[in-house]
Amino acid sequence: MICPRCGQEVTSEMAVCPYCQNPLNAPGAAAPATAAAPSPPGTIPADVSKPGFAIASLALGIFSMFAWLIPICGGLTGIAGVVLGVVGLKSRNRGMAIAGIITSALGFVLALVNAVAGVALVWTNMPSF
Ligand SMILES: [Zn+2]
Repeated sequence: MICPRCGQEVTSEMAVCPYCQNPLNAPGAAAPATAAAPSPPGTIPADVSKPGFAIASLALGIFSMFAWLIPICGGLTGIAGVVLGVVGLKSRNRGMAIAGIITSALGFVLALVNAVAGVALVWTNMPSF
């Protein structure tokens, strides 16, 4: 979509235009520029705490505990969960991030074991000659 105020190309997911700070999804977004709310740069709160990462890590970890039955799926969610958990360690939800790392790592190991066992099973079931 196009920002109604400055005419720059912006994505519709953005709440505020990155070029002119014009609210895009708020009612009256196309209002004249003079009505724009004062939002000087630098007022955006620093994204120090990332509780979302810790929660996502734990969710992925729990998912990995079940997804390991599908080797590739469990492996990928396990890796993603560990990465998100490491990022989430910096947030207030440190315990949740640690739990996410543990469950994700466990899911990844289970997926790995399952993959190896699956390969071994196929190998032993090969017709011998
Ligand atoms: Zn704009």
